Amino acid sequence: MRWFVLAASAALIAGCQASPPAQTTVSFAASGGPTIIAPNSARVMPVAAGPVRQTPVGSTATSANTSVAVIGRTPPAVGRCGPAHQPVGGLAGRTVEVGSISDINLRKGEVVLTFDDGPRPATTPRVLAALSDAGVRATFFPVGRMARTYPKLLQEVARRGHTIGHHTDRHAWLSKMRFDDAMAEIAKGERAIARALSGSGAQAAPFFRFPYLAHTSALRKALAERGTVVVDVDIDSADYKRSSGAVVRQRTMGRLRRKGRGVVLFHDIHGRTASMLPGFLRDLKAGGFKVVHMVPRGGGGCAGRVG
Ligand SMILES: [Zn+2]
Repeated sequence: MRWFVLAASAALIAGCQASPPAQTTVSFAASGGPTIIAPNSARVMPVAAGPVRQTPVGSTATSANTSVAVIGRTPPAVGRCGPAHQPVGGLAGRTVEVGSISDINLRKGEVVLTFDDGPRPATTPRVLAALSDAGVRATFFPVGRMARTYPKLLQEVARRGHTIGHHTDRHAWLSKMRFDDAMAEIAKGERAIARALSGSGAQAAPFFRFPYLAHTSALRKALAERGTVVVDVDIDSADYKRSSGAVVRQRTMGRLRRKGRGVVLFHDIHGRTASMLPGFLRDLKAGGFKVVHMVPRGGGGCAGRVG
């Protein structure tokens, strides 16, 4: 069984790449876990979404109903939503209020970190620990089904002061759907996130990212009209590809150095991403970059109230 889980984990789980993977089709199973459909095969291979194989030392997150213990330095809790912002080591940059796409106007040397497709107990706590250790805040775009399965973990993301957007309910390929169906799928994902956070004191931000970055002008227009900000990607880490964390780190830094700034796409469901993140954050600091935290204009997001 181990070979199977490792092989599945090494494959693309649910990337946000702009073009479809050549060899793998991805869907989310009814159980809430991601599923990989292998090419030229009718077999559907469920991927272990829980921490059974990959639980990091110190993590006790085992199910949707289990309290979440996140490894690494735990910032002090302030208020109901999360910790006060405590920059560590000079990597944290501005907090930017975003009410429309035009507000995401980064200066040279500024980056925004985004993590899609979670939360996932095997990996998201490690991502949170790395971000806390570096004293920076990111934006997460969870999938509705994952949030339903692991609401406590999503609440922990918010408690740490990160911004939470949404990313559809089942990671749907919206550009291939009828307009009404696509909008319904977006709304379903948004409701799932809100429900997962309910009672925690945190609220999701009206930020959205298209799965596979597969957008249409009609959907973008409709989202803008309802006050939803579509957050695009400047630098794709391509962490959904089969490669080591070291390769992801090197590739992302290379792209970032060439562009000099930008919104970086990662996925908090991948082990390689969690593994390379501490080193990547050290690279950012060494390169003189600053991590900008996006919060919704006018509040409404947890981080926007405590930052
Ligand atoms: Zn995605």
